[in-house]
Amino acid sequence: MSQNADPGWPSAGHRGHAVNIQPGARASPETGGGEMDEKLSRRDFMGTMGAAAAASVALTPLAQSVPAAQNTGGAAAVLSKTTPYKKVVLEPFDYAGVTLRQSLWQRQASAGRDYYLSLSNDDILHGYRVAAGAANAPGRALGGWASPNSNTVFGQWLQSMARMQRAYGDKDLLEKANLLVSEYAKCWPGMSSGAARGGGRGGGATGGLSHYPYEKLVGGLLDMHHYGGHPEALTLCDKITEVAVPAFNRDRVAANREPWELHSGRPGEWYTMAENLYRAYQLTGESMYKEFADVWLYPAYWDKFGETADPRDAQGVHAYSHCNSFSSAALAYDVTGDEKYLRILKNFYDWMQKRQTYATGGYGPDERFVYSDGALGDALEVYSASFECPCCSWAAIKVSKYLMMYTGEARYGDWIERLVYNGVGAALQIKDRGTHMYYMDYHLGSDLKYYSRNAFTCCSGTYFQNIAEYSNLVYFKDAKGLCINLYLPSEVEWKGPTGTVKVVQTTQYPEADTSTLKLTLEQPATFALKLRVPGWSKGMTIKVNGQAQTSDIKPGQWATVSREWKSGDTVEITIPLHFRRVPIDEQHPNRNAIVRGPTVYGQEDPHKWLSDIPASDDELDKLMKPLANDPAIFQINNEPVVSQRNAFKPFYRFVELERYRMYFDPKHRRVLW
Ligand SMILES: [Zn+2]
Repeated sequence: MSQNADPGWPSAGHRGHAVNIQPGARASPETGGGEMDEKLSRRDFMGTMGAAAAASVALTPLAQSVPAAQNTGGAAAVLSKTTPYKKVVLEPFDYAGVTLRQSLWQRQASAGRDYYLSLSNDDILHGYRVAAGAANAPGRALGGWASPNSNTVFGQWLQSMARMQRAYGDKDLLEKANLLVSEYAKCWPGMSSGAARGGGRGGGATGGLSHYPYEKLVGGLLDMHHYGGHPEALTLCDKITEVAVPAFNRDRVAANREPWELHSGRPGEWYTMAENLYRAYQLTGESMYKEFADVWLYPAYWDKFGETADPRDAQGVHAYSHCNSFSSAALAYDVTGDEKYLRILKNFYDWMQKRQTYATGGYGPDERFVYSDGALGDALEVYSASFECPCCSWAAIKVSKYLMMYTGEARYGDWIERLVYNGVGAALQIKDRGTHMYYMDYHLGSDLKYYSRNAFTCCSGTYFQNIAEYSNLVYFKDAKGLCINLYLPSEVEWKGPTGTVKVVQTTQYPEADTSTLKLTLEQPATFALKLRVPGWSKGMTIKVNGQAQTSDIKPGQWATVSREWKSGDTVEITIPLHFRRVPIDEQHPNRNAIVRGPTVYGQEDPHKWLSDIPASDDELDKLMKPLANDPAIFQINNEPVVSQRNAFKPFYRFVELERYRMYFDPKHRRVLW
């Protein structure tokens, strides 16, 4: 908090007392590098973020405010829709009623929450206050990509705070987000006055907002209205949009692999705009939002997936933002009902699984989609910038979640699972002044997890979104019952047919192969419990109160147990965890990652010893033996004992600058001296 606050600006430093996301409690909810060369920096097209512009817009009291969603502890009725989406057949819990219990992922969410809460509000707001005319605004700009203002991350942080406070009843986080919205609203008239409006070309003419930060801000304000109940958030969103509609550059040049600058289109990432604008339309019914969303549809790229999951010319473009654009296609489906968009979304998903993803679920070496001719495998020799982890995890988790919601199919949970355990869930924790992980490194040979040299990049925005999303990915519900998507320690309260059903999930998965669900019901009730059978799994079994179930258990589908449930019922799920090799692509069948269940393993101390990976999955699984003192760490037991541990452990357990090897290729030379 600054000593010399401008008298016109109430100090907004946060109060600083932490509320922990406690295991097993309904209070609030650890683990993170890559470098973006300055020439690669996306800041350029995310807006230079400084220039004030556009006509003065006075804020008016909110007239059309709809009540914010109540944090009811998850008591959503069967058949009732808690989301604004129209075409949904399977609903998430919409950030209510699910609590994470102690696990690596709960600790990651909790530590991240504490980190973002601890950031100075004055610093976050500094650039906006200066742009609005407060020369002596307290604090200082966050720095890095969040210079001279916080546009790179502001909307994403608001969205994350709105969702996380709802999920965990976190008053401190809500208080912070409320203050940030109110203070931004005070800045807006000043920021958006004085400069020419209407002829604006992208960033600069709209209160410092260009397409990227505007779209993120719409998402944040919507959620602060819908989940946070902020009385000004929606009016502010309206006013900003009224400025953006006539002022934004509508060139909409499709992305291309060359020249380099066109990898994310022009203006940059314009094709991601529609998702949150359609959400705004669905939440408010305001035609302005639908009409503006319609402007940003992306048939030039999406139509490549209209009839095929194997297009020939979809490579070369910016990976994160293009994956993210398919969330706009998802909302286009929801708003228009046009099945074409759902088909595009499904084909894109399948293309990503078959052609673009590493064993981790990551994608996009050097931030691009690649040719389907073995380029992904070749990239392991060329790039260390293998995967823009927080951003790309976020985009892929959203695509997968929309597909689950619109199709009801379990198979789309597989990508979510992979990324929660091996993508963002294996990332280093954000710390200090915006020090965070950007790239994951899967280079052949050996690799490191390391922090980006750039502070507060895009990935410090999406990191928060990811960890705020965890509790929303574990359970889903439909008209017939409750679905378990992720096997994570957690509890859920669901409004069943005869009252509240509470399910407590206890598990050490993915380090152990069982998960136990304990049900508590107000009264016995008949409904379906649907358990996701991972696509990679073999031999999953289900027991109810000790009795084996004979229901169909097919990989990639839901296993459904329908019965009358009563308090005290226990469901035990066993998903055998075997080691297998996952080749990078069809052209490199012997270039493999070592995977156990959903978890990618890395070899420790790889600079000392390159293991011979058995040529069959059965042999690999037979030879891998757990260490006595830590059964999640394995050793190949036919290899000579060397001075190093030569052990394999889950990728998410590797810490900063701890060397590992993820991909193995027997053609690689193993003796150097
Ligand atoms: Zn990023």
